[in-house]
Amino acid sequence: MAVDASGIASAAREELRSGLRGEVIGPGDRGYDTARAVFNGMIDRRPLAMIRPVDASDVVRCITLVRRHDLPLSVRGGGHSVAGNAVRDGAVMLDLCAMKALRVDPETRTVRAEAGLTLGEFDRATQAFGLATTLGVVSTTGIAGLTLGGGLGWLNGRYGLACDNLISAEVATADGRLLRASAQENQDLFWGIRGGGGNFGVVTCFEYQLHPVDLVLAGVLSYPLDAAPRVLRFYDNFAKAAPDELSTAASLGRSPAGEPTVSIAVCYCGPLDEGEQLLRPLRRFQSPIDDGIQPMPYAVLQSARDEGFPSGRRHYWKSGWLREVTDGAIETLLRFLPQMPSSASSVGLQQLHGVASRVAPSATAFPHRAEQYDFLILSQWSEASDSDRNLQWTRTLFEAMRPHLEQSVYVNNLGDEGPARVQAAYGENYPRLLAAKRTYDPDNLFRANQNIDPSTDTASGPK
Ligand SMILES: Cc1cc2nc3c(=O)[nH]c(=O)nc-3n(C[C@H](O)[C@H](O)[C@H](O)COP(=O)(O)OP(=O)(O)OC[C@H]3O[C@@H](n4cnc5c(N)ncnc54)[C@H](O)[C@@H]3O)c2cc1C
Repeated sequence: MAVDASGIASAAREELRSGLRGEVIGPGDRGYDTARAVFNGMIDRRPLAMIRPVDASDVVRCITLVRRHDLPLSVRGGGHSVAGNAVRDGAVMLDLCAMKALRVDPETRTVRAEAGLTLGEFDRATQAFGLATTLGVVSTTGIAGLTLGGGLGWLNGRYGLACDNLISAEVATADGRLLRASAQENQDLFWGIRGGGGNFGVVTCFEYQLHPVDLVLAGVLSYPLDAAPRVLRFYDNFAKAAPDELSTAASLGRSPAGEPTVSIAVCYCGPLDEGEQLLRPLRRFQSPIDDGIQPMPYAVLQSARDEGFPSGRRHYWKSGWLREVTDGAIETLLRFLPQMPSSASSVGLQQLHGVASRVAPSATAFPHRAEQYDFLILSQWSEASDSDRNLQWTRTLFEAMRPHLEQSVYVNNLGDEGPARVQAAYGENYPRLLAAKRTYDPDNLFRANQNIDPSTDTASGPK
């Protein structure tokens, strides 16, 4: 931190307090510990101050002040980055939680949504009009971080990723400007924020395209773990043949009763009778322990997994893209699953396909455009004393799975894994992202993220 005396830090805090309409929370203030906590309980960082802007002008003022005092900055949307990028020791945290305005235009099927909204808040508001767009699958996640990194969810096959549905965004940049980014204005910025994360500025407001989505045919089929080879082989073929309206996921873990299970989850967003027909072979190829597939409101599906991901547990995730569920991959998973240290953990496959896979890799900054699965080892546990075991198991399983995975990784799943993995996440789009970073944030003010360092040697390119 550039502050060498607590006097300077407190002067900056006072200036922030007097210059902003939003709340400023510093060490010693009531609520400091609650405000600095993020989703991942492994993250325990102490920011210099937390600022809760109420609008875009507050955001711009905060950026200007932070620059004047040469203070490090982090930005918090929904606080769900498992790497804990929303909070940094000794930095000013710009926490967007008070910015939750949302306006749906049912005529044009569009919505303007401020960056502090969670998926649940967004879905509830748009569903009042029978409309939705692709977001993620746990309702407490923030729309901001999710959209800026890509945004993979149940509607991706039919409507693309969250970032594919972005029409425009309002971005507060490092030089204190508030820019509109769209296909017509600041095109390179608009390209960069659709997959390049928070590297270019603070997005204060997103404008999305919405689609008619009402009842969906969705739910989970569970099987005992010893059926996994047959279930996963069938799943891979079934998922690959699925039409755009049907998106799927598979998971290995434990049932609420503690039984090891393999499960398949689906969401069909077309006509229900057609969905019933389409899902018949899946529901019949093997008797499940439980079949929870039924018509349900889309917003109900969107919070169905919340219970499994309460805030504050310790998390350690590893992931990579998987093109095919081969016998070798299944055998590896089954070798490790019985030793999984925490019953709350799971290993998941989230399908990217259809419209999301057919966008050109360079059309947006999100490069992973192929029919594939986002393979995720989602380790979570409660006690600090269990951390070593869980970290070790996750790392060993990931190393064993590496030969089956692509080199690339989805940026929103990354932990603190070093520059080579960050470049693997941006892939072939890295050089263009670097050029945009040099234009919009040459001093790397926005570096509490999966960072594109503007001082990187261009010639070296992605590793
Ligand atoms: C339980 C859980 C479920 C998930 N499910 C999915 C899923 O289904 N699909 C999927 O695609 N991803 C999923 N993710 C990953 C998720 O997309 C990322 O964790 C994402 O970063 C969360 O966004 P956030 O705003 O909540 O996070 P934050 O931690 O607040 O932010 C993440 C990053 O974005 C930056 N940022 C946040 N807001 C802004 C802003 N307004 N302007 C500029 N930069 C900003 C932050 O500085 C940080 O670097 C899931 C994560 C969790 C923990």
